[in-house]
Amino acid sequence: MTDIAKNIAIIEERVDASAKKTGRSRSDVTIVAVSKTVDAYAVGQAEEAGIQDFGENYVQEYLKKREVLKDTLNWHIIGPLQSNKVKFILDGVCLLHSLDRLTLAQEIEKQCEKKGTQLSALVQLNIGKEPTKSGIFEEDLGRFLQDVSVMRRIRLKGLMAIPPAAFQADDNRPYFEKMRRLFDRYQAEYPEFEYLSLGMSDDFEAAIEEGSNVVRIGTAVFGARSN
Ligand SMILES: *Cc1c(COP(=O)(O)O)cnc(C)c1O
Repeated sequence: MTDIAKNIAIIEERVDASAKKTGRSRSDVTIVAVSKTVDAYAVGQAEEAGIQDFGENYVQEYLKKREVLKDTLNWHIIGPLQSNKVKFILDGVCLLHSLDRLTLAQEIEKQCEKKGTQLSALVQLNIGKEPTKSGIFEEDLGRFLQDVSVMRRIRLKGLMAIPPAAFQADDNRPYFEKMRRLFDRYQAEYPEFEYLSLGMSDDFEAAIEEGSNVVRIGTAVFGARSN
């Protein structure tokens, strides 16, 4: 077994255990392996170990890897997206996790219109109101969703957040809980809401226990990034 396969087996078990605490199971949670800075070979190893979903932060890097890997993988864009990069992700990305501003939504709408396609997206919240992070503030979410929901090419699939850096996994529970409440509230209004993308290597168990159903895990799958 490769190290990556071993890591994934452990993560699978941990995800399953956390999901069961909330009456769900492993299959109710999507594991997105965050493959930024990792080469296509390692992505292939993760695929062989059962991972179907991969998350990339940079469009250029995503395009390169996609070229050498099979088309059967699900690609997610999870990092801040520049408007001029939108046109490159419409063919192959299954879910954008980082819809964080109206100008980006407008560009997506425009480019999708041109290509006759749609894009599924999660709205990214800046749940800790950190100046260094992008995302919508919770008090602006209702208005933002309204504005985007009239755009016919964007399918609003849920919410995503990266809470402030924590000392312990449990420190982020109040943020996860807050996100869960927002998710539940807006799911009532937006029936396509399906995904709550919360939790990374250090805190995915807490996130799942608070209701996340998409975890984005890099380091715990592929090892520490060198940069
Ligand atoms: C890098 C990254 C992750 C993965 O972080 P790890 O701590 O390595 O698991 C998850 N989400 C986003 C948005 C990221 O940029």
